[in-house]
Amino acid sequence: MTTNQVTVPDLERAIRNVPDFPKPGIQFKDITPMLADARLFAGSIDLLTANVKPGSVDAVVGIDARGFIFAAAAAYKLNCGVIPVRKKGKLPFKTHEESYDLEYGSNTIAIHVDAIKPGSRVLLIDDLLATGGTANAAANLLKRLGANILEITFLIELSFLNGRDKLKGFPVRSLVVY
Ligand code: AMP
Repeated sequence: MTTNQVTVPDLERAIRNVPDFPKPGIQFKDITPMLADARLFAGSIDLLTANVKPGSVDAVVGIDARGFIFAAAAAYKLNCGVIPVRKKGKLPFKTHEESYDLEYGSNTIAIHVDAIKPGSRVLLIDDLLATGGTANAAANLLKRLGANILEITFLIELSFLNGRDKLKGFPVRSLVVY
């Protein structure tokens, strides 16, 4: 897969592995070197949206916090709105909430009850698929609002954690797979 002359291996080379962050045993995938490179960042957005024709989605949903970076740029490219799924307590209006376990710790995420009209076609984006708990919780929030999830897309997948198993029934695509 190539676009803007950026390939998935180009992206992979710009992702830094930071051992033992934020706690011992975690191999943290630091995407900031990739984000800081204009060509690679633009290429990552082109690759993340490669399956989506402009006009075929109503919104891109991004997951707090690094998912917002990609969701916002993808929404701009696809000429649609961007919707945040946020950590509990951050959204000001009425919310639906879902709790789940993380690779490190646990979390609750939320979406505004009126964020999406039933039947809307959405693309869900996050930076990384680990155990799948976060994306599964986000997908559950979207289902509660009646959204039609066209694809769940990640820059990075830690395939040895089998996160895809939690996302059965959805088309899942990731670029850099470890
Ligand atoms: P999970 O719910 O286990 O799939 O975890 C995915 C979420 O946690 C994503 O929003 C990632 O940003 C973050 N995350 C989990 N593991 C890592 C990791 N090894 N490196 C960077 N981010 C991670």
